[in-house]
Amino acid sequence: MCEFCTQHGEGQKWYLTMDNYSNDLLEQDGRIAYAADFLNTFHRRTPASLRKLDRVRSTPLMPALRPIMTANQKRNHYGQVVPIEEVEQIFKMVEGVVRLPCVCRRVTTGNFNARYCYGLTLDHRLYDELDDSFSLELLSSTEALESIRKLDKEGLVHSVWTFKSPYIGGLCNCDQDCMAYRITHARKDYPVMFRGEWLARVDWEQCNGCKNCMRQCQYGAIRYSSNHKKVLVDATACYGCGVCRAACQRDAITLYERSEDPVAAEIW
Ligand code: SF4
Ligand code: SF4
Ligand code: SF4
Repeated sequence: MCEFCTQHGEGQKWYLTMDNYSNDLLEQDGRIAYAADFLNTFHRRTPASLRKLDRVRSTPLMPALRPIMTANQKRNHYGQVVPIEEVEQIFKMVEGVVRLPCVCRRVTTGNFNARYCYGLTLDHRLYDELDDSFSLELLSSTEALESIRKLDKEGLVHSVWTFKSPYIGGLCNCDQDCMAYRITHARKDYPVMFRGEWLARVDWEQCNGCKNCMRQCQYGAIRYSSNHKKVLVDATACYGCGVCRAACQRDAITLYERSEDPVAAEIW
């Protein structure tokens, strides 16, 4: 399990621990003001932060800065990939779900109304602080899950996000326009999220080598063997999101616990 499970999960997965979604936690440590400011100002702050990062990322300073930046993220706003089954479990633990526009896509695409973010509290003190561009939609858990199942089929990766860890306030659905994807995975600047607790594997008895799953995987973790005319998952590259399963018409892909894999167990 990842270090957040040890620190915040009481021996189980930290994002399946109900306390980490509680209103008591939200009310502590200025979290409401922090979350509101984070969301309201993200599109204004991020371009300047990226310019700063660009200036240092290929300098000798970067190796020293990387752990500091990650520690800062872990304190304030950190994520972890979760498969659809765990999205379902999470929705059973929260009091309600609010859909709101994605702040990353505001920066990366200029679209201010890409509605891929789901807030996991109904606290009006937080939502009252958001500016008018955040038109909120209140959804039942069933409606929210239904909409996320559609996003899963499209290959969008689900992840939970803290606002002053360990409080979990958001569930995101992301592609390569996600700032977390870019900073952690594409640019490899520094980690701002954990990989999932899972890994995918392919049953070669079922696989016909159609490659649909390869097109669905955002992390390039599925390889084609022309020798065997089958695909296989590189466990060291897999994020455990599970969305490749939705692309497979032969049910050839399943998830298993990352901890069971001797090579990838400690790759987060
Ligand atoms: S993490 Fe994903 S859904 Fe959340 S704000 Fe970023 S791109 Fe949008
Ligand atoms: S989608 Fe399924 S059948 Fe097609 S290559 Fe992937 S695992 Fe094999
Ligand atoms: S191979 Fe791994 S990273 Fe790629 S879609 Fe499947 S679970 Fe996600």
